[in-house]
This record gives sequence, structure tokens and C-alpha cells, in this order.
Amino acid sequence: MMAQYLDIKAAHEDALLFYRMGDFYEMFFDDAVAAAEALDIALTKRGKHDGSDIPMCGVPVHSAEGYFLTLIRKGFRVAVCEQMESPAEAKKRGSKSVVKREVVRLVTPGTLTEDALLEARRHNFLAALSRVRDEIALAWADISTGAFHVMPLTPARTGAELARLAPSELIVSETQEESLRETATDLGLPLTPLGQASFDSTAAEKRLCDLFAVRTLDAFGTFGRAEVSALGALIDYLEITQKGKLPLLQPPVREALDRVVQIDAATRRNLELTRALSGGRAGSLLSAIDRTATPGGARLLEQRLSSPSRDLAVIQARLAAIDFALDRDRLARDIRVALRKTPDLDRALSRLSLDRGGPRDLTAIRDGLSQAAAIAALCEDEDLPRLLSEATGALTGFDDLTNLLDAALVADPPLLSRDGGFIATGHDADLDEARTLRDEGRSVIAALQKGYAEQTGIASLKIKHNNVLGYFVETTATHAQKMLAAPLSDSFIHRQTTANQVRFTTVELSDLETRILNAGNRALDIEKRLFEGLKAAILEQAARINAAARAVAELDLTTALADLARGENWCRPKIDDSRAFAITGGRHPVVEQALRQQGKDSFIANDCDLSAESGAAIWLLTGPNMAGKSTFLRQNALIALLAQIGSFVPADSAHIGLISQLFSRVGASDDLARGRSTFMVEMVETAAILNQADDRALVILDEIGRGTATYDGLSIAWATLEHLHGQNRARALFATHYHELTALAGKLDGVENATVAVKEWQGDVIFLHEVRKGAADRSYGVQVAQLAGLPKTVLDRARVVLEALEKGEREGGATQKALIDDLPLFAASPPPPPPVKPSPALELLDSVHPDELSPKQALDLIYKLKEAA
Ligand code: ADP
Repeated sequence: MMAQYLDIKAAHEDALLFYRMGDFYEMFFDDAVAAAEALDIALTKRGKHDGSDIPMCGVPVHSAEGYFLTLIRKGFRVAVCEQMESPAEAKKRGSKSVVKREVVRLVTPGTLTEDALLEARRHNFLAALSRVRDEIALAWADISTGAFHVMPLTPARTGAELARLAPSELIVSETQEESLRETATDLGLPLTPLGQASFDSTAAEKRLCDLFAVRTLDAFGTFGRAEVSALGALIDYLEITQKGKLPLLQPPVREALDRVVQIDAATRRNLELTRALSGGRAGSLLSAIDRTATPGGARLLEQRLSSPSRDLAVIQARLAAIDFALDRDRLARDIRVALRKTPDLDRALSRLSLDRGGPRDLTAIRDGLSQAAAIAALCEDEDLPRLLSEATGALTGFDDLTNLLDAALVADPPLLSRDGGFIATGHDADLDEARTLRDEGRSVIAALQKGYAEQTGIASLKIKHNNVLGYFVETTATHAQKMLAAPLSDSFIHRQTTANQVRFTTVELSDLETRILNAGNRALDIEKRLFEGLKAAILEQAARINAAARAVAELDLTTALADLARGENWCRPKIDDSRAFAITGGRHPVVEQALRQQGKDSFIANDCDLSAESGAAIWLLTGPNMAGKSTFLRQNALIALLAQIGSFVPADSAHIGLISQLFSRVGASDDLARGRSTFMVEMVETAAILNQADDRALVILDEIGRGTATYDGLSIAWATLEHLHGQNRARALFATHYHELTALAGKLDGVENATVAVKEWQGDVIFLHEVRKGAADRSYGVQVAQLAGLPKTVLDRARVVLEALEKGEREGGATQKALIDDLPLFAASPPPPPPVKPSPALELLDSVHPDELSPKQALDLIYKLKEAA
């Protein structure tokens, strides 16, 4: 056995080998040590190898999934090695034969399909990046849903697109591994290097044609060499990890770079689109707006939010669908009731295709398709907008399949097919008989006994059972004569004669016996066969079921966004090809919800107008910390983004000319993990914007330049603004601390000052959160510091310094250094010492009245005082 183990292990060096032994998966040697530590399970030993103990650990097969997940999260890969025959079969081959084993699957982060291992509401993408001469392309698939895409890339966009997809695993060729290492580490995605052969585009083309049973790939579009290579490498990797059992992939869909809004990794992070800065989903835009009722709908929302569209027709169609859903509220609500009962069709289908499905995947298809039909019926007489009529069109035509599944399956089947019990009674006569025999063996025997008693006229005839003979007919010696003679002897075959009894068997009875004994197994076998039949019937329609699942997701998302728009009072944005950006009454969806959750219904809506019919339009926003600058900046970016996924937006009105790129940067955020100084990060990121932004970009810059000395920072901010205005000609919002910058508004066309208003009241600041035209008069830093609880002495001192500096500036003469030299030294008096708690001795002394003390009492008191002191 060890020899077999070592052979298999040698072929899977980079994975932990889960070696099947009966009801356990066992690991040996280094694998065992690593797994025991990662899984926190006991490390034991088993036998010896080259004279030393073999470390070993194991996990039960039935709970293996959970362990896979832990290992994958910790960066391991797992090779699952199964027994390919029973021990009895192995014995037949020879008494010393080891049971045949094979690795049937490699479990890697990008190839999971089990519900327990996946987040239902997120896609799990496996991606492959390929470079052929000057072309780069990225292919990606979610094998748990069958989605399959490819996109040509430019070097500058590679990081951004990887950030958008956030694949769980990225396949690269060995030769590219190094150059991508940094990008991959930054995005936290595991790289899987594959040999160059897997990326060969000629072989890849053949692989793809075979998979989709087509003669040429032209059927799916025109693909460049790099695209074919990336698609092929992905398929090759699936063949390797799934050991030839390929998932059901839909034909590859080609995405064009210029069809989606370009959003780089820093912007995504900063705007907290699908994940909050804290890392989780909570607090992100996605979680604030997700009202979808199905996992497929939630995945579609995340996908749209990650890649807003630049296609006017697509956006308009989605908005029209939401309008319709709002208009037909009753219908939309009925649809949502049905959606809530609709299981995850995509993932059930994918598991069935990979042979990892169970009875519940069959019922998921059954229930999903029935709900789909119900939804289609609801919409039957409606005058639907195009998007929705296309969707409902994909929901019907499954009656034969649902009828079959309905008739075949019980309502709530068990999880695993191996236990049986999922096929309904009445569906299959053989199965019903097998189950009857299994469950009611005794009564079948009783009926037979009654029949024999009548046939022979021997009322005392019995059918009995023992371990030697099995079932037999028994009668007394006196009656036996009758049965030993013709015609009864023709059917009753003599088996045994004892002192008083004679025993017979019949063909019928021995048949029955075998059938009873095998009934249980037979029932299981029949169910297994029926399972395969139902599975085949489903897979035959896989492409249509996938289309129905997409339609369900589309309906879900449409009605969910309508529900959101109604509940949150959002408006339909006007989108066109202009360079407008006019928002009235705009709100930040996440901050608004957060305030409401704190019981404050106090979000202040603000207008923003960056319309730029010609040239740039830039707002330069000043105002104290905590006034709401960042909130305002981000809310406008989010409104644009929501509009371009085809959603209504949190505003009273919005007119947006299509945006091609969205950039958002915050000055000097900490990035210690990457080992770059914060200022360096800020500058690298700003450079990326200035080099890339075109005149359709929307740029949000929050306190760029604050990470360095004042004049350096000011100068950089100044030059950046001028570049955005003159070169990039982008629409931009620029928040800054440098009041000096406000002078630019007078000089540059299209640059305007705006400020977030505050009120000063009895020395405190009150934040009004209102954005107004004009520059802030001052920054109220000291007041904000006071709110933060800085000690009073520091605050007093800060006021003195500030006043002196401002006075110097007003009078224009003195340099700052001279001013500071003039300031009286830090004059705050030291704080009074904390009140001293009286000592027990003093308390005691306090309670004493000397006049009343005798000399003896006085002496005692001295002792007591001494003790207390
Ligand atoms: P700044 O960037 O100016 O320092 P922030 O945008 O971070 O300020 O806002 C500070 C806090 O003020 C936010 O956390 C939020 O609670 C509140 N706030 C911001 N904008 C508004 C608004 N428009 N209405 C109500 N509260 C707001």
C-alpha cells in the first residue's frame, strides 16, 4: 500500500494527498504534519518507512468538505484519491492485491462547486492570463455556474481587470509567473503556474472546438491568439484538476474593454464597491443596495457593480425595466414572492454535470423551473419592456422536464443519493416492488404461506427461516406424504427431514428469498439508475436551463433595484452621450443608511454640477475636517456608477453624460503591507490618473498632497489640478486643505470653488454638511481637534499659535520662523496634582477626641496608627 501511496504522491507533489482508506481520507509523511497543523487535528503514526515512524492523520469522508475549505483558505491544494474498487474485487485479482486507487479531483480555490465551500451570493472565478507576442488576454470561468468569458487586455489595464474580477485563482504560464507576482500579491490572489504547452494557441483552439463540438471558434466570435490561448489554458487546467470530467461551460462570451467603465483596484477599494475597507461585505455599496431574492440575482448585481456599462442602449433598457417594475408594483411583488422560492439553478446544474450532484440538486432544478414557469405565467398578458420580455421568454418550455421530475421525486429528498429514498412511490414499478419487499418482506411471505396452505389443503403449513436453509416450507411428517407425491412434488422440492417435520422449498420461494435479501440493495441500485436517468434528462437541456437561470437573475435584479428605488426614494437618471454631470439632491447611499441605522434621519442632500460641454469642469472643495467632503466626493462617484449599471440613483435628479473611466484617490492612506511610504503610494496613484484619464473620465481626488511638507504638497496639488484641467480635460472633484488653491478658480475656466458649510457657535463648530459655492473661510482645525478631545491646555496653546501665525500672514511681513521665535514659550501651567485619598491613619486620627483618652487608650491608639500608616 505504501508503494502505491508514494507513487500517487509523486505525481501530486504540490498538493496534500487525501488518500481514501474506507471511511477516512488519510494523509502521511509531510502532508500529515502540514494538514494536522492546519486543521488542528491529531497527528499520529502508522507503520514504518525506511525504519522510522510514518506520521499520519485522517479525516472522516463525510465531513471532508469542511476540511477542504479550511485547507484552501490556508493556501493549500488538495488531491482527492479514491478507491476505484471494493476490497472484495481487489481480492479477486489476487490475495495480496492492493485496492486500486486514483486521484479523481484536485481541489483548488478556483474549482470549487459545493455549496458548503462557496459563497452563494458571489461568483467564484478561475482566471487565466495569457500573452502571445504583443497581445494579452484574460479568460475567466465560474465552474459553479458555467459562466465563461474572455477579454483582450492592455498591460495598463491588467491590474484593474484582475481587481474587478477578483478571481480565486489565476493561471499563468511559468514564464510569466515572476512578472505578475507583485500584482497578484497586491490583489491577494493565488497564482497557479502551468507549463507553456497549456497555453499553446493551436492546441487551445482544438481543445475549445472539441469541448463545444464545433468545427471552428468563429461561431462564438472572433478571438485573437492570446484570447484563444487563455481560454485553452483554462480548459486544460480544468481537465487536469477535474481529471477529465469537465464542467458544463457556456460558450465563451467576449467582453470588450471599451464596453465597461474602467475602474482600477485603488478606486474600487476606496469607493468600497463590493467590499468595505475593513474587508467584509458589510459597509460596502453592494451590501447597502442588495435586495435580490436569489443567489443568482445577487451574483449578477455584484458583477454589474464591478463592471458598469458604457453602452447607452444597454443602460436604457435596464432603466426602462425598472421603471416598468415600479409602475406595475403588484406584479413586481408577485414576481418577488416566486423568486424567493427559486433555488440556485446554476449551481445545481453545475454539480450535476460534474457528478457531484445529489437528489437535492434534482429538486432544485425541479423547483427552480416550476417557479420560472410560474413567473412567466404572471407576466403572460403584460406589455413588457424588451429586457423583461426576453427574460420571461427564456423561462418556459420545461414542462416535460418538470413533469418528469415532479412525478419522479419526493418533495424533500435526503442530501445524499447513496442513502436512497428520493424517488417517489408510484414512479417505477420495479422500485416500488423492491421497496415493498424490503419493507414488507414478512407480509409477502405470509401471503405466500396462505396461498400454499390453500393449494395443498394443509392448514398447518408454515413458511419459516433459518440461517442454514434460508426460507423453507415446513409441515408435519404426516402431511408430508401428500407433498412428496405428485402432483404437489412437482412444485415442492424436498430439502430436509427432521424428527417431526419435513421441509421443502419452491422455485417461487427461493426466488422470493433472493429478492428479499437483495431488495434493499436492489432498491438502491434502481434509485441510482433513475438518478442517472433524471440527471441525463436535465443535462440534455443544460444550455436552456442556464438561459432560464440568467433570466431569473435578470428579473430578480430588476425587481430588486425597483424595490430599492421605491424604498429609498431614488430617481431615474438621464443618461446620454453629452458631457453633463448635474446632480440635484444627491445622497451617499451607504452613509445615509448608516445614519438611519443610528436613528438619525438627517442626511443632507447636496447638488453637484460638473457639466462640461467644452473643456473641463472641476470643483475645488474646501472645508474643515469632518464637514463631509469625502462623503460628497464619493457620493457623486457612486451616483455615476449606479447610473451606469442601469440602476436608479440616490438623488432628486441626475443628468450624466456617459463616463468611461472612474478614478478615486485619497491622499496618503497607509499601505505598510506593500512596504512603500504612504506619500510614494499617493504619488504613484496620482501619476496613474494623470497618465490615463481621458476627457470622459470622472476623477475624485481627496486631499492629494497631504502626505508631505506643506509647500511641496501644495505645489503638487496645484500642478495636478492644472494637468487635470488642461491635459486630461476630465470632470473632477478635488477636495483640499490648501486654501491657497482656491485662487486657481479665478484663473482657470471651468474650475469652481465649493465649500462644505459650518457654523461657529460659542467657540464650537457645527457641521451643516451643506455644499455651497465659494471657498471656506478657514479650516476650523482647532475646533475639530477639540471635538476629538485634545487636552484643553494643548487647545489653548494651539489657538495662541494660530492667531500669531494668521496675524503674521495678514501683515505680510514676518516669516514664519520669526513669528515662532516671537511666540512666548509654552506657557500652560502644569496640571494640579490629582486629589490625594486620605490615608487610613489620618482617618483614624480624625475620629479621635484627645480629651476623652486615658493614657492607656492613647498608647493603644499610637500602636493602631502605626499599623494603619
Ligand atoms: P471630511 O471628508 O470633510 O473630513 P467626511 O465626509 O468624512 O468629512 O464626513 C464626516 C462625517 O460627517 C461622516 O461620517 C458622516 O457621518 C457625516 N456626514 C457627512 N456628510 C453628511 C451629510 N451630507 N449629511 C449628514 N451627515 C453627513
